[in-house]
Amino acid sequence: MTLLQVRALRTHFLTRAGAVKAVDGVSFDLQRGEILGLVGESGSGKSVTGFSLIGLVDPPGRVVGGSIRFDGQELVDLAVTRMRELRGRRIAMVFQDPGATLNPVLTIGRQMVLAVQAHRRLSERAARALAAERLTRLGIPDAEARLDAYPHEFSGGMRQRVAIAMALLHKPDLIIADGPTTALDVSIQAQILVEMRALARESGTALIWISHDLAAVAAVADRIMVMYAGRIVESGPVRATLAAPRHPYTRGLLDSLPATAQPGARLRQIPGNTPALLSLPPGCPFAPRCGYADAACVTDVPVIEHDGRMARCHHPLEPRP
Ligand code: SF4
Repeated sequence: MTLLQVRALRTHFLTRAGAVKAVDGVSFDLQRGEILGLVGESGSGKSVTGFSLIGLVDPPGRVVGGSIRFDGQELVDLAVTRMRELRGRRIAMVFQDPGATLNPVLTIGRQMVLAVQAHRRLSERAARALAAERLTRLGIPDAEARLDAYPHEFSGGMRQRVAIAMALLHKPDLIIADGPTTALDVSIQAQILVEMRALARESGTALIWISHDLAAVAAVADRIMVMYAGRIVESGPVRATLAAPRHPYTRGLLDSLPATAQPGARLRQIPGNTPALLSLPPGCPFAPRCGYADAACVTDVPVIEHDGRMARCHHPLEPRP
C-alpha cells in the first residue's frame, strides 16, 4: 500500500547568481513499511529531498514545483500548523548530528516527555514510562535513571540512540534518517543499523535512509535510489541493483568502495567533481565524468524501465560476468 507519492519534486535555492536546482524533477513511491536507501555524493540532492518531504528547507531554498502526497494528503504548501501536527507524530526525522534534535539544557527525560505530550494526552508518569521503554529498546542500559541525564553526559553513539528513540516515540508512519550513523564508529553503526531495521519492521514504519555509504544502505534497505545532480539516475531492489548496476554512476560508486579493490592495487575513483548546479551541461549531467559518454549524451536522457528497475541513461550497462 502506497504511503508516499512524490511527483516531479523541484526544490531550488534562489540566489543572486540564479536558481540552484538542488532537487530537479524527483518522482518515486514509498510503500508502507518499506525501507528505501537514498544515496549519492555530497551535493547530489539527497538530503534536500529528505528536508523537502518534511517541510524543513530553509530559505533561500524552497519547493518550487511538484507534489508530495503523504497518505493521500498533499504536503506541498500545507499550512505550517498542519505540518507541525504531522511532524513527530506521523513523520519523524533523524539527523546526522543528534545535537540538531537534542536540547543541551534539558534532561533527556524532560525532552522526551515534552515530545510525547506534544501529540498525546498522557500524564508525566506515563510519558516517562514510554520514554524509558523506547530508550531500553534502543539498547540504553538503566534507561529509567538515564532519563535524568543531560545530552552531554552521553557518548556520541548513545546520543544518536536517544535521537532515534525520540523519533520512534509515536511509532510514526515514516522516518527520514539523514546519515544517522555517519559520525559513529563502525561497530556502533552496525548495531544501530540492525536495531533501526528491526524496529521499523516491528512497528510497520517506512524508512528513508539517506547516506553516501553503499554498504550501510545494502544492509538496511529493500530498495535503493541513486541521485546525481538533483535527479534520480537509478533505482531498483537493493540487491539486484548493487549486484548489477545499469547506470555508470552507480557502477562508479561501487568501484570506489575499498572492499571492491584488488589487494595492492590503487583505489578506483570517479574522475572529476559533481557539477555546479547553477550551470548544468545539456543532456546528461554525468557526461563529463562518464567513460561511456558519446555524442548522444548531450541530448535528453531516456528513462529505461524494466523488471522493477529504472536507469536514466543513453547506454545502460549490461551485467558484468
Ligand atoms: Fe554516461 Fe551517457 Fe549514460 Fe550519461 S547518458 S551516464 S554520459 S552513458
